[in-house]
Amino acid sequence: MNCVNHADRQAVAQCKQCGAYVCEECRQKTQGIAKDYGVLCPDCFRRKFEEIRDYYAGIKSKKILSATVSLICYIIGIVIMLISLPGIWGTIKVLIGLLLMGGYCAVASWRFASNSIDEYDMKHGATYVITDTGISRDKSTWLKVVFFILGLVFGIFITPVNIIRWYIQAAVNKKRVADCEEVIASV
Ligand SMILES: [Zn+2]
Ligand SMILES: [Zn+2]
Repeated sequence: MNCVNHADRQAVAQCKQCGAYVCEECRQKTQGIAKDYGVLCPDCFRRKFEEIRDYYAGIKSKKILSATVSLICYIIGIVIMLISLPGIWGTIKVLIGLLLMGGYCAVASWRFASNSIDEYDMKHGATYVITDTGISRDKSTWLKVVFFILGLVFGIFITPVNIIRWYIQAAVNKKRVADCEEVIASV
């Protein structure tokens, strides 16, 4: 059998993905970088790295979106907090400011609590309660509410850290995308 890429060369291996035969040069070219995926032919190798590139590009976009939305809300929150209003309007203003500055963090905390409860239920069995009126689930809503409020209050401090973290993660993933492009171009 000859190489799928070099018709005049003897094949030494088979692509793990599609079964195509590859010569020593093709094998070496793709094996070193894609050692986690076994021997791949140039086509499958390229496709694999396009997949990885798209995956990192997706993470990058998500991080930029989260960071930007949080940043805008945070700035608007600060501005609203700084406006001085009399009486009840002052209280409403503080609540809206809190919500904008910590809202994203509060939702994230709620989701974190939900996931933790789900995980606990999966390991230890769900917490069903049988009463006269039927079976009820979810005893743990209070925990989610606690996490939500904690997120809202501490979001003022956590959100700026998150914004910086997300922008850094976006930059890291942008670099990964570029690295993948380089590998794809080299095949
Ligand atoms: Zn292949
Ligand atoms: Zn070849």
